[in-house]
Amino acid sequence: MTKEIEQFTQLGIGEALTAALLEYGIDKPSPIQAEAIPPILEGRDVLAQSQTGTGKTLSYLLPLLQKIDAEKKESQVLVIAPTQELAMQIVREGEKYGAPIGIGTIGLIGGASAARQVEKLRQRPHLVVGTPGRLRELLSTRKLKLHEVRTIVLDEADQIFQMGGADDVRGLLKGALRDRQLIFLSATLGQDVRGLASREMRDPVDVGIEPEQKLAKSTQHLYFVCQERDRIDTLRRVVRHYNPQRVIVFVNQTETIAEVEAKLNHLGLEARTLYGDSDKVTRATVLSQFRSGKFRLLVATDVAARGLDIPGLELVVHLDPAADSEHYVHRAGRTGRMGRKGLSVSIVTDRQAFIMRKFSRELDTPIVERALYEGAVLSPEEADERRSGASRRTPKKPADPSSNKRNETTASSSAARSHASSFGAADPVRSEAPQRAAAPSGANAGKPSAPAGRGPKGGKKQPNKDKGAPKWLKDKRSTE
Ligand code: ADP
Ligand code: MG
Repeated sequence: MTKEIEQFTQLGIGEALTAALLEYGIDKPSPIQAEAIPPILEGRDVLAQSQTGTGKTLSYLLPLLQKIDAEKKESQVLVIAPTQELAMQIVREGEKYGAPIGIGTIGLIGGASAARQVEKLRQRPHLVVGTPGRLRELLSTRKLKLHEVRTIVLDEADQIFQMGGADDVRGLLKGALRDRQLIFLSATLGQDVRGLASREMRDPVDVGIEPEQKLAKSTQHLYFVCQERDRIDTLRRVVRHYNPQRVIVFVNQTETIAEVEAKLNHLGLEARTLYGDSDKVTRATVLSQFRSGKFRLLVATDVAARGLDIPGLELVVHLDPAADSEHYVHRAGRTGRMGRKGLSVSIVTDRQAFIMRKFSRELDTPIVERALYEGAVLSPEEADERRSGASRRTPKKPADPSSNKRNETTASSSAARSHASSFGAADPVRSEAPQRAAAPSGANAGKPSAPAGRGPKGGKKQPNKDKGAPKWLKDKRSTE
């Protein structure tokens, strides 16, 4: 399908950059890089869609770094990213490959000192990377001028669009050179972005690498059904079973994120939190400690779902189901990057199981139900069989002393005690089984009781202002 390109030099990337790439073990362009680099080098407008973790960052950074005139003290390229974390990640990539060839990079992100950023801006760094909020602020006070900017990139373009809408994006684009080059990228480029692209771009090159295939093929998708009160315990058992080095645990609510963190730490699962409302320094520290392996579980809202590239992230857990299949794609996309193996596990109640079937249908990818039984991950049928086999061998044991003992060592709060009773003999998955069989299926299987449920279809377009939980979710909660 795509022509096999063996080397970056064949695409027009120079010696200095290819040498720098080699230092990081990157010797062969990925398919999206092979497709996007030549038109970007030519100065064409580009719409690029490929799965998460396929190397979209370098697909625009390499040609743009190549084209920047390092001799000129001018800000020539602007990259817009939806979150502070993603913007900083792009800054680091820019520095990594740009600094050796004399290119200066700056990050303009919210939460950090504007004064310092303005000071640095005076030196007119060649590559400017920013979040929409801070960019808007600096543009409106005329601290940032775009009149020398030749190229504007919207990384995770659909998310930027959803945050502020078309007018906001147009506002950000205004002020740049009239014949500026525009580049939009995402794993999910919907009609909104394509509409904006057709208005703002000139004869764009549409590079889609299997655009209909949104999920990385190297990731396996599972879900476990449990009762609401057993979510954390199910998570504990999933982590114990797979024993990954690092896990991101996605939740839908900022309000209860600290409680989840406390419960996990209480279970000995070293967890910390990342969400939109916490301050910039905390966010940056937490993420860098997570990257360096100082703790194992990052409990995060969807603020961490876009674009983050965390080496060694083997498991993504959706402790609350994703808001829709697009959110699912980006959350799950934190693992299984560049062909590495990944696992995405959703923990749902019986009444939410239909959401998994819906995502599976919409994404045309199997999302398979699994059950935990005595530490093993089995099909629900197999788990049921083993359980009924076990109960035939051992007559009913209302209070399993060994499981109680286990619970006491880990759970002491009343909340923990209440779910501790579902260990062992009354296994959470098992106690759900009869209900599951009786539950209606399909879209009318009852609204999910938690705010994890679907919002109105159009709701996702409301601005979420970088604040952890999507705004529609907060709106929905406030009306509940
Ligand atoms: P995307 O933006 O598509 O989600 P990223 O640009 O974050 O993906 O890249 C994912 C990972 O792959 C990063 O760790 C990046 O360094 C690495 N990578 C990028 N290009 C290549 C390549 N050509 N060969 C090997 N690894 C690459
Ligand atoms: Mg990316």
